[in-house]
Amino acid sequence: MKYYSTNHQVAPATLKEAVLKGLAADNGLYMPERINPLPSSFFKKLPSMSMAEIGFEVASFLFEQEIPSDILKKICEESFNFEIPLVRISEQIYSLELFHGPTLAFKDVGARFMSRLMSYFNEGNSRELFVLAATSGDTGSAVAAGFYNVKGIRVILLYPKGKVSKIQEQQLTTFGGNITALEVEGVFDDCQRLVKQAFLDEELNKKMTLTSANSINLARFIPQSFYYFYAFGQLNQPNKEIIFSVPSGNFGNLTAGVMAWKLGLPVKKFIAATNINDIVPEYIRTGEYHPRPSIKTIANAMDVGNPNNFPRLQELFDKSYSAFCEKILGFRQTDDEIRKTMRQLYQEHRYIVDPHGAIGYAALKKYLQSPYEIGIFLETAHPAKFYDEVEKTLGFHFDLPENLKVYLQKEKKAIPMSASFDDFKSYLQSL
Ligand SMILES: *Cc1c(COP(=O)(O)O)cnc(C)c1O
Repeated sequence: MKYYSTNHQVAPATLKEAVLKGLAADNGLYMPERINPLPSSFFKKLPSMSMAEIGFEVASFLFEQEIPSDILKKICEESFNFEIPLVRISEQIYSLELFHGPTLAFKDVGARFMSRLMSYFNEGNSRELFVLAATSGDTGSAVAAGFYNVKGIRVILLYPKGKVSKIQEQQLTTFGGNITALEVEGVFDDCQRLVKQAFLDEELNKKMTLTSANSINLARFIPQSFYYFYAFGQLNQPNKEIIFSVPSGNFGNLTAGVMAWKLGLPVKKFIAATNINDIVPEYIRTGEYHPRPSIKTIANAMDVGNPNNFPRLQELFDKSYSAFCEKILGFRQTDDEIRKTMRQLYQEHRYIVDPHGAIGYAALKKYLQSPYEIGIFLETAHPAKFYDEVEKTLGFHFDLPENLKVYLQKEKKAIPMSASFDDFKSYLQSL
């Protein structure tokens, strides 16, 4: 399988090239050249398969021998070694809990797979590999955890100053070793712009090997499709119509879901569920796509004003607006609506949801009509990651999981950085 750039200005790449480069030289995103349905035998055995087994089958199908089977199998087993339970909330609504990995957000799924794939492809490379990751809160720590202490790899995280939760900041800034955190004077979109600009800078790229750990990297985006199959297998109700509601910011997660559908997974609709940074719901409503500066919300990991996976999403629909709207619905929630949903979920179902998951749930409540439909929302982070907000909203104290407490005891180490590319570039050149 080859991977083409969504801008079509460069030749298709091998998997290795696509994974190590991250972003194509023409600024496009890599996509598999063919996405065909998996065989029906695969769907029949889904209910009895583990996440690692599903990952292995789907990845083998997409990668076609580019990674030896035994190695790919090991990568899947190591990456997907935590639970991803589908939890029943009510008769028609389920929560797919993606937050049981080491940093307690769904980003662990993609980051763990990607770090192992990159390490595999980077083996025997004499030059150090610099992994750049802009983060709105959760990507950074998942990537850091995936690469921590991996030889030959250095990770630079960029996060927007004052715009991530306290626990997220502790998770980002306390690794040390081969992980460095930059505290950027700006918003997430500034962090993302700095990283993109670094990849396009010829001088930098001559001097150092740079790669991206954002969801623009194919190796992060592909494994996110695996859990859509896994949810379908766990639900095991083949005569129901399934709607996935995906709390979205950069749209890597939703794009991966649409890819799962193109790989044959029967999904009736997807919901692009956003906070007030509703660029995609607005596109669905009006046909016009207008990126704009992001606004801070209590679902901060989704404060994205220029969703970087949008070209991929369009590509999956052959750039057809009507095909896009046929499959994807858009819903947005204000901070007040998010809080109301969090309280409602607790009062009615004793379920503590984080602000991001609440957006997914609220959209399902608005959308679901027919009793033949089942709505699954992706619960993208553990509520404790947004402790202050959740505690304030629900009005009671709850225990932090042990693996979060560990981060809180460590000392923050971050390098202050302006939002100007020149400053970022000289920093990189000094390494
Ligand atoms: C990153 C993130 C999202 C948004 O995911 P995208 O793939 O960027 O759309 C949603 N919720 C949480 C908790 C996240 O960390």
